[in-house]
Amino acid sequence: KERDPNQNEFHQAVEEVSKTLLPLFEKEDKYLSVFERMLEPERALQFRVPWMDEAGKKHINRGFRVQFNSAIGPYKGGLRFHPTVNLSIVKFLGFEQILKNSLTTLPMGGGKGGSDFDPKGKSNIEIMNFCRAFMSELYRHIGPNCDVPAGDIGVGGREIGYLYGMYKKITAQNEGVLTGKGRNWGGSLIRPEATGYGLVYYLDNMLQANNKTLKGKKVLVSGSGNVAQYCVEKLLDLGAIPLTMSDSTGYIFVEGGITRKLLQDIMTLKNVKRGRLSSLSKVSEIKYHDGKRPWGEECDIALPCATQNEINKEDALALVKNGCFAVAEGANMPSDPDAQDIYMKNQILYGPAKAANAGGVAVSGLEMSQNSLRMNWTREEVDEKLQNIMKNIFNATQQAASLYGKNDIDYLAGANIAGFIKVADSMINQGIL
Ligand code: NDP
Repeated sequence: KERDPNQNEFHQAVEEVSKTLLPLFEKEDKYLSVFERMLEPERALQFRVPWMDEAGKKHINRGFRVQFNSAIGPYKGGLRFHPTVNLSIVKFLGFEQILKNSLTTLPMGGGKGGSDFDPKGKSNIEIMNFCRAFMSELYRHIGPNCDVPAGDIGVGGREIGYLYGMYKKITAQNEGVLTGKGRNWGGSLIRPEATGYGLVYYLDNMLQANNKTLKGKKVLVSGSGNVAQYCVEKLLDLGAIPLTMSDSTGYIFVEGGITRKLLQDIMTLKNVKRGRLSSLSKVSEIKYHDGKRPWGEECDIALPCATQNEINKEDALALVKNGCFAVAEGANMPSDPDAQDIYMKNQILYGPAKAANAGGVAVSGLEMSQNSLRMNWTREEVDEKLQNIMKNIFNATQQAASLYGKNDIDYLAGANIAGFIKVADSMINQGIL
């Protein structure tokens, strides 16, 4: 904290992990010094991104790429475009990514990047101008065997397209340097769906292991972006009842559950029209709650899929009071430490982000494999691999929870420890670097 004051989100992520690793350090003290080394990124880049809007006005944003750990493979992790992006946010995300990528069992190190650029209200041309300016610096630091960025908040298929186009123009190389690419130019089937689907697969495994099922369960979902949309789709596939979705200005509640037709309308609203959920407030079956988050509604399960620290102590207490028995995280670090304590004290089944939302990066790993093989797998092949990966991740977190956790359902400790050991052992094997 003294070395990096003001990096609150990074400290929060490290504190959560270090608390859960203590039993491991007590058993095997070699891991403590490796952990200290792991807290320092191998490389942290910050750069200027000058770009021009359609009116000819010049803007300067900050670009970041933190190449955190390459012990088990090339740096891998998304790019976030959002006004809140700073070094602390990128470091917290990059640090979590190391352990998450390890859990997928695929050879990927951890990294993250982005910019404080705000895509809201920007025209298509402005988004393209910005992506080009961003890549005109980033390209020299990345590569298919070195660092492979992907999307995150504010970076979806459109942005990956503009970024990839610019990379190709500068380097004259057609190679798997980004994931989340379009289907016709190197993308993998199921990548857009992967984080949301994977979250529900993880949840399903967690429920089954505790003699519960998803069918007929009332679910609160936050967010209405990439992760939330496909989470709701998979919930519907498996017979659950998604009641809510949200964006940064409020949430919608649908008595009886969000239907496929409504989900389709929300996808069009968010992905094509780039509008707000508030515009649905006049639809008769929808109740829109301005400026609020959905955690005060009655439910069985909560799936936060928007952003960090979106569930605090009061929210967690409300969830418990209203009958929630399981929380699984689609977003990164959506539950603050007080909320995590409430889950633990109330025996809530808790699927932490590193494990529960690892499906996205797992399919990114599969996209990298397909690019290297110059082959495309079918939708069914990729979905089956995703399901197996999520099952394996759940089993690994469950085993580590039994060995090192406070109890058998301490999947938080399980995820951190299972992810950590593989990276730490690899770092030890490779010497002090
Ligand atoms: P999107 O940009 O597609 O969607 C983000 C959603 O969250 C939008 O509904 C957005 O609302 C809402 N949101 C963003 N910031 C805030 C905020 N400060 N307060 C309230 N709501 C907010 O991003 P993704 O769906 O890709 O990402 C969502 C989360 O999932 C992030 O935490 C991300 O790190 C994580 N994640 C994403 C993966 C992926 O594959 N995409 C992989 C693993 C994790 P609005 O429309 O108003 O901006």
